[in-house]
Parts: sequence; C-alpha cells; structure tokens
Amino acid sequence: MRPFWQRKTLREMTAQEWESLCDGCAKCCLQKLEDDETGDIYYTRLVCRYLDERCQCRVYSERQQKVPSCIWLTPDDLDKLQWLPDTCAYRVLHEGKPLPSWHPLRTGKPLSTLKKGKSVQQWPILPDDSVPEDDWEEHIIFKVN
Ligand code: SF4
Ligand code: SF4
Repeated sequence: MRPFWQRKTLREMTAQEWESLCDGCAKCCLQKLEDDETGDIYYTRLVCRYLDERCQCRVYSERQQKVPSCIWLTPDDLDKLQWLPDTCAYRVLHEGKPLPSWHPLRTGKPLSTLKKGKSVQQWPILPDDSVPEDDWEEHIIFKVN
C-alpha cells in the first residue's frame, strides 16, 4: 500500500500524520519582515529564541502563548502562507509535489533533514533576542518569491 502522504489528502490525515509531515527544518522559526508598501516578505537570519541547537522547539506545547506569532498550521492556511519555504512538506504536498528524498518520512531517520543540511542548523543564525528589533532589517538574508 502507498504511504499515507501519497494516499490521503492533507485534510484526510490524522493529527499524528499531519504532525509527522514537519521535517524539522525550522525555517518557519526564522523572523520575517514585511515591507509595508509592497507587501514583500523577507526572511532574516534571526531565529526564534526558543529554538534549540537541534532545531527543536523548547516550548512546543505552549508555543502560541510564548510566541503569539508562531504558526499553527492547518490545511486551511496553506493558500495564504506563500512565505512558507518551498521545501516545507506542507507546502510541497499542497502543491501536489512529492516529498523530497531526504524527508524523515522517506528516509525513516528522524534526523535526516539536519544530516542532509536542509535545516537552518548550518545557517549563520542568531537568536532574535540578541538583536534589537529596530536592527532586524540588517539581518535580512532573502526575499520570498
Ligand atoms: S518550514 Fe514546514 S517543514 Fe520546516 S519546520 Fe516549518 S512547518 Fe516544519
Ligand atoms: S515558539 Fe517554537 S515553533 Fe514557534 S517559532 Fe519559536 S521555536 Fe519555532
């Protein structure tokens, strides 16, 4: 039988299947800035202060209380979140593409995203509370297409 992510739509998945789609890249934990005039969105290299060295959230169960802007993805959000990285499994499946070969669900290895260099772990990231918010613009690394 084909694996659940090929058989089911995103809406048909159980909560556990939905959670398992996250590859742990932590790119969504990078702070983003929006240009008020153009609406363009930019990623910075400043990462949420609650991310640990293994790209795990230190406050996962209470993340929305700690960080109100932290996303809690649902299938209804995917049309609106064009800023999600193009490698994000939710976006990939929403766009009808296959999961990448390094995805933990395909490798069977929970750390394969990190081991293959597909997370922010090797990026020159800084905790967001180490830089005053007025200076975040100086840490932009790319613009969302
Ligand atoms: S960008 Fe997508 S796959 Fe990566 S950590 Fe965020 S939700 Fe998970
Ligand atoms: S609270 Fe956790 S999941 Fe949310 S942005 Fe911060 S590290 Fe990422």
